[in-house]
Amino acid sequence: MLPIVLLGFVAALVSATTHIVESPCELLKRLLPSEIILRNETRYTEVANKNWATNARRAPSCIVVANNTRSLQEAVKNLTRNSIQFAIRSGGHMIKPGGSNIDNGVLIDLSRLNEIEYNAIGQVARVGGGARWGDVYKALEPHNVTVVGGRLDDIGVGGLILGGGLSWLSSRHGLACDNVVNFEVILANGTLINANATSSTDLYKALKGGGNNFGVVTHFTISTYAIGAVWGGIRYYAPEQFPALISAFSQYQLGPQDPDASIMIQAPLTNSSFGVLLNIAYSRPFADPPAFDVFKSIPIALDTTSIRSYSSLISGASNPDITQLPRWDWRTATLAANATLYTEVYNITTKAPELQSLSQLQSGTFVFNMQPIPVQTVKAAKALGGNSLGLSEEPQVWVQYLMAWWHEEDDHKAYSLSKAIMDRVNQAANKANDSLDYVFMNDASQDQNVISSYGRDNVISMKKVQEKYDSTKAFQELVRGGFKLP
Ligand SMILES: Cc1cc2nc3c(=O)[nH]c(=O)nc-3n(C[C@H](O)[C@H](O)[C@H](O)COP(=O)(O)OP(=O)(O)OC[C@H]3O[C@@H](n4cnc5c(N)ncnc54)[C@H](O)[C@@H]3O)c2cc1C
Repeated sequence: MLPIVLLGFVAALVSATTHIVESPCELLKRLLPSEIILRNETRYTEVANKNWATNARRAPSCIVVANNTRSLQEAVKNLTRNSIQFAIRSGGHMIKPGGSNIDNGVLIDLSRLNEIEYNAIGQVARVGGGARWGDVYKALEPHNVTVVGGRLDDIGVGGLILGGGLSWLSSRHGLACDNVVNFEVILANGTLINANATSSTDLYKALKGGGNNFGVVTHFTISTYAIGAVWGGIRYYAPEQFPALISAFSQYQLGPQDPDASIMIQAPLTNSSFGVLLNIAYSRPFADPPAFDVFKSIPIALDTTSIRSYSSLISGASNPDITQLPRWDWRTATLAANATLYTEVYNITTKAPELQSLSQLQSGTFVFNMQPIPVQTVKAAKALGGNSLGLSEEPQVWVQYLMAWWHEEDDHKAYSLSKAIMDRVNQAANKANDSLDYVFMNDASQDQNVISSYGRDNVISMKKVQEKYDSTKAFQELVRGGFKLP
């Protein structure tokens, strides 16, 4: 075979003996006949469009739906050897446009790598890189254990872990990435290696927050924790209770910390009929434990909290309806805990002049989220060996704006609107000296500098890992989507 010179994806493979032109997708179809979906096949559209947000979807030239690790190795080896651009998709929930899909390239869909095996002796679960969190929790529940993972059923295991991964159990156990004891990774040359605390330790650390920069992770072995019934759900409040909730949030964060407790405030600002949501999770079966007393005096409009299984807490979470709100931008910032700053953020969020233009967008929706990160989360991460995220060891809040709209022609308007409001937040935080560098990959917008935010030392270490395991920079240059090393 002659090597392929890639010119976008119209590149062709020429057989030296026959001179028959073979496209990269035809080559893959010949090598892996049952696992390649070509554009002219009926199932193509459904599989290509599995990305959650409409604006994250792309039109790949073909899709590799690998049945097992071995065929995935074969695919990766051939793609990199022939300089063919590709994307990797697990659950397809990354909001960034093209974050896990590709135009005119090959999409690797990991959905068939979805095994979930529990090892009671090792107290770990080995989970395929294409599994969904809801299936993981349900499979582990009969064993009375769970893992630190996503807060909604249909998020993919692969992307959530590699971007850090915030869970209802993070207050005690750190982020999802901190709880991985072994990554099974296909490197650019197609070899499969294990990265863990004793083997390829540099890669092990880099993958904890490293996204798709180093390899395709086929399986994650994750620590499990005992769990029985839990308490939690959503409490809805009238919109006028928003300031009281912000103030209680500060007290909650600065008061005594209960590692079983976790919350998130969500305020859908453009649809006041939803009010303000307080998502509550308590990892033991006690209703209204003292950790949440600071919210007690605020009148509740509607309450779904109950003692229930952990999987039912996850499946009961509020999940945006993508058919009504098809296009999305998420944007994040990290602030040090500061009650005065929170009030200012509230004022910016509810009164920013940019909000006026939101009404010009069809289905224009703007949701504000506040996620408290206790010091214990950062300490737990360190105790588990450390990650690459460069988190500051102090109480902090991961603020998030979620913007949704209908029409593609409004994309620019929507992105600029959300950015302008977040810029105001960052200015206020800088002024208060309470802006922290960290940008959470899983909540980040396309223009945010995620990996630079991990700090100079982490970036240098990650670049060394890249040189060692991927000297041709295939995962930088051929693998599209995700957030790349700076
Ligand atoms: C409704 C919703 C709720 C969410 N809730 C949470 C939450 O509770 N906590 C949280 O932390 N985040 C949450 N997120 C964010 C989510 O974690 C990120 O969007 C994450 O990227 C999704 O993972 P995925 O596998 O579904 O994504 P994908 O889009 O499939 O992948 C995301 C990125 O990871 C890469 N990737 C995926 N799998 C692999 C692999 N095996 N090997 C190498 N690279 C890979 C992809 O190439 C892509 O760059 C939520 C997102 C949505 C839309």
